Amino acid sequence: MNHALRQLPSVDRVLSQPALALVLTQTSRSRVITAIRQQLDGIRQALREGGDSPAQDVTAVMVAEKVAKTLNASDTTGLRVVWNCTGTLVHTNLGRAILPEAALKALTGAATRATNLEYDISTGKRGDRDAHVHDLVCELTGAQAATVVNNNAAAVLLVLNTLALGKEVPVSRGELVEIGDAFRLPDIMARSGARLREVGTTNRTHPHDFENAISIQTGVLMEVHTSNYVIEGFTARVPTGTLARIAHNHGLALVVDLGSGTLLDLREHGLPYEPTVQDALAAGADLVTFSGDKLLGGPQTGLIVGSGELIDQIKRNPLRRALRVDKLRIAALSETLKLYRHTESLKQHLPTLAAMLRPLDDIQAHAIRLQQAIVPLLPGGFEAAVIATQAQPGSGALPGRDLPSRAIAIRDTLGEGGGRISRLEAVMRKLSTPIISRLHDGALLLDIRGLSADDGPFLTTLNELAAAYAEETKP
Ligand SMILES: *Cc1c(COP(=O)(O)O)cnc(C)c1O
Repeated sequence: MNHALRQLPSVDRVLSQPALALVLTQTSRSRVITAIRQQLDGIRQALREGGDSPAQDVTAVMVAEKVAKTLNASDTTGLRVVWNCTGTLVHTNLGRAILPEAALKALTGAATRATNLEYDISTGKRGDRDAHVHDLVCELTGAQAATVVNNNAAAVLLVLNTLALGKEVPVSRGELVEIGDAFRLPDIMARSGARLREVGTTNRTHPHDFENAISIQTGVLMEVHTSNYVIEGFTARVPTGTLARIAHNHGLALVVDLGSGTLLDLREHGLPYEPTVQDALAAGADLVTFSGDKLLGGPQTGLIVGSGELIDQIKRNPLRRALRVDKLRIAALSETLKLYRHTESLKQHLPTLAAMLRPLDDIQAHAIRLQQAIVPLLPGGFEAAVIATQAQPGSGALPGRDLPSRAIAIRDTLGEGGGRISRLEAVMRKLSTPIISRLHDGALLLDIRGLSADDGPFLTTLNELAAAYAEETKP
């Protein structure tokens, strides 16, 4: 043992091995040295504890190769591309909308060159970053004016802080929403400096509930789209038009937080109705807030549209500076919005809409094709079949309305409880491009609706599966 310990290569010897040359160009010298020390410490400890000396001397080459491997495998910091097989098309935890091609080109241009972000080319004076999307948003929604901020939560915060600081905002008890990742309407309202005034009940709210709540203390009236749940049964809500009339009779504005806020009437595409921005404005809403990266299919942004006078007030709020968007998102948003001028070709160019409208026979054919390709790539003791599933638009759109889909269901044929199948799920997350799937009823489901029709890159990832599973389950 002492001999083996004495024979261990020095840190410097390992560092000078060709096996580490590439790693040293990709990461810091100190990170490599730390990894070598850890590797050598591990070997030393194993020698002391195990006692039995290794069959051969531990050479500098062996240690260097091991270090190169661990550093390559552990460099998983930063944002990574993954395969979304969850069946939730616009998945908040997986980055929401996949941007259209036109937006990518604009992103690259804006990222690599100087732009007229806040520069008016015609006058040579300072410009306004909203100018690049303002007219387009107004043209598409019928609004008088518009402004863009960091996300929809920021839009709600800014609107309430501008119009209702220190004042009351009546909201129906049926609409006090919590959206995933910690957007709770009452909390945002409290931080905006406005005071929530709950009206009505969870299932029924009437016009007189709002009438009775209005006083000298009232700042604005607010309606919130119940974007991730449905209240069914004995229910009553005050329609937007009625609420707008009540607000206007008292000299107040009506703010509608639409959440996802589509610009399209989805019924024209055979889907259930989701309130549109145009409809909310036409019904009398003075301001409407919605997300740029939900059904709209663009980059993370929050859009505020409506009355010119109110938008002016909002733009003068100093908080707006803290919530503004950068040139990249302005570039991507304006190109995404331009696609909406051509509704006939929209579904070819907007990935979010394409995934939602994908015909079921197309998904079925894709599922069968993939299932046949996947079977030979599975580790031993697993089988794959095509099953019917329900996918969701996600991110608070069309709540309770599923989209029929197909999944590859992978099952354990050795019947060892859920152990092997959950290990397979974990191994899928460790592939070079992690595959995010879901476990359901003892099977691992890979939902097809959100996958691109080009199987090549997906199968390249799956090619790693058997070896990765073997490595993981090695005794
Ligand atoms: C999603 C949503 C929000 C938050 O929007 P983000 O873009 O996630 O900030 C706010 N209100 C409603 C009704 C929503 O659906």
